[in-house]
Amino acid sequence: MSEALKTTGEPMLQPEKVLKEVFGLPSFRGQQAEIIGHVVGGGDAVVLLPTGAGKSLCYQIPALCRDGVAVVVSPLIALMRDQVEALRQSGVRAAALNSTLTPEEARDIRDALAAGELDLLYVTPERLAGDGFMGLLSRVPLALFAIDEAHCISQWGHDFRPEYLQLARLKERFPGVPRLALTATADPQTRDDLVRRLQLDDARLFSASFDRPNIRYTIVRKDNAKAQLRDFLKAHEGASGIVYCLSRKKVEDTAEWLTAQGIQALPYHAGLDRSVRDRHQDAFLKDEGPVLVATIAFGMGIDKPDVRFVAHLDLPSSIEAYYQETGRAGRDGLPSDAWMAYGMSDVSQRRRMIDEGGSPEAVKQVERAKLDALLHVCETADCRRQALLAHFGEQHEGGCGNCDACLNPAEMWDGTEAARKALSAIYRTGQRFGAGHLIDILRGNRTEKVERSRHDDLPTFGVGRDIDQKGWQSVFRQLAARGIISIDHTAYGALKLEESARPVLQGQQPVEFRRDPVRTRRQKTAAAAPDPLASPEEEALFQSLRAERLRLAREQGVPPYVIFHDTSLREMARRRPSSVSDMGDIPGVGSAKIARYGDAFLAVIAAAD
Ligand code: ADP
Ligand code: ZN
Repeated sequence: MSEALKTTGEPMLQPEKVLKEVFGLPSFRGQQAEIIGHVVGGGDAVVLLPTGAGKSLCYQIPALCRDGVAVVVSPLIALMRDQVEALRQSGVRAAALNSTLTPEEARDIRDALAAGELDLLYVTPERLAGDGFMGLLSRVPLALFAIDEAHCISQWGHDFRPEYLQLARLKERFPGVPRLALTATADPQTRDDLVRRLQLDDARLFSASFDRPNIRYTIVRKDNAKAQLRDFLKAHEGASGIVYCLSRKKVEDTAEWLTAQGIQALPYHAGLDRSVRDRHQDAFLKDEGPVLVATIAFGMGIDKPDVRFVAHLDLPSSIEAYYQETGRAGRDGLPSDAWMAYGMSDVSQRRRMIDEGGSPEAVKQVERAKLDALLHVCETADCRRQALLAHFGEQHEGGCGNCDACLNPAEMWDGTEAARKALSAIYRTGQRFGAGHLIDILRGNRTEKVERSRHDDLPTFGVGRDIDQKGWQSVFRQLAARGIISIDHTAYGALKLEESARPVLQGQQPVEFRRDPVRTRRQKTAAAAPDPLASPEEEALFQSLRAERLRLAREQGVPPYVIFHDTSLREMARRRPSSVSDMGDIPGVGSAKIARYGDAFLAVIAAAD
């Protein structure tokens, strides 16, 4: 498909030269140069960098600099397809072996491999471990092994894949071939586990801050979740994004509702027909704009760089999951939104899933602790980013200025009395009732249930008329998020007092609550603007360039971003290159892409002059 970039016997290509000529990028980012130098020199590496940091180049460039083929193990076929397509567009000889190929296609790739005609070969772990494949590899020169999404080998991780365990054999089977494990999963348990299981104890560890400064975190209290979502989406019209829901049914309902509201939305979950799923995923990748409403079955291995927002309509299971899911936004480094609406019912639902789930008790305890840590982030009145990073053992000095808590600081109120009343209501009713009934007691509502239980005789009856229904819900939610009370699912969601309730109940410990902001039609925090262009002319040119990109992408049936990223098109709109050599100075425009697309995009720019 393209001329060979490297030929055996020639001196090694320099990483900087490959970066410039093949990928069209002027300089390395962060620790890329160091990592690449280490691997080109034959060293093993464990690379722990956040999403969007540029991990792919850390193995793609050594693959081109070293002799032989680089084998990249990746868990997901969609990811492979995209990466291979993007590499081919840049003139790299890349291929993927996976279960979607016909036997003939698979044989062609094996032949190319044996003939030394590949720079990079992507494989699923099953393929790698499968019949005879390792034998085949042992007969060709190998540049390196890259193990992407390496956290999949750990049972601690949320994406455990048993096939990954086979990768432990690589070390003995291919001594001397450098191995890199890469992941964006940060927690120390997973890290240690993957190093041990992959026998990478001697590898050099590269890690950096997990902060994603271009992502704006916003967590709102559920009020009318769909309407809140619609308002949020209105601020992102025409942009591509993901809405996560917990259940398949909710995915379908939400997609339908959004469509009825005039927002183009497509459902995605494991229960849909494979062909429907593929079509929706394809539209998400290849068209510009549709919102994908999905369960967490969607997303891993999706490398789409210009996802402008990730919205959660249900609470994720942990900070790790939340961070990974929201991390799919803004890989291209442009401003992006992570938005979540959550309420007390989410907490009950998650707790119930844990309690009724099949895990052994010790695992359930870990799961409960993970959920509590996420609740803390949801209920904090301080910077969300600080709280998230603290969970990964990182300190962020001061507020970030790019989360809802920093942008619209929460108002606090002295809740010492309210907390006492709430706890007293729980205590006096024998810790047997849920928030709804307790609120009726506090607010003095003579419901049938209140009268039947004679709860109107309690001293707590009606002592909380000064706070409305929503206000009390907020109090109970915040008490639960702080572990002062807990929800017992084995007793229909009854609220129970925890040890830390005692000093509060006795009035020895003051409590502050955050006031839930009232929902306004226009919330100040929504929509981080993506890297604004200076003038309407620039904006118009950018749109014309996008249209040209979409046309070229459709012609080839590939996602637009494998041709050029938005960042490249924005630079073109700003600088208006008028020659092939000016074009080469635009980041992301390498020599293969100039040869292929230079004229088409130069013509669009010329027409705009
Ligand atoms: P990760 O795998 O770490 O999530 P990717 O490898 O997908 O990240 O890279 C994220 C984005 O950053 C891509 O759009 C990529 O083109 C871009 N990128 C990577 N390295 C550089 C660099 N040195 N200069 C400019 N852009 C880069
Ligand atoms: Zn902040």
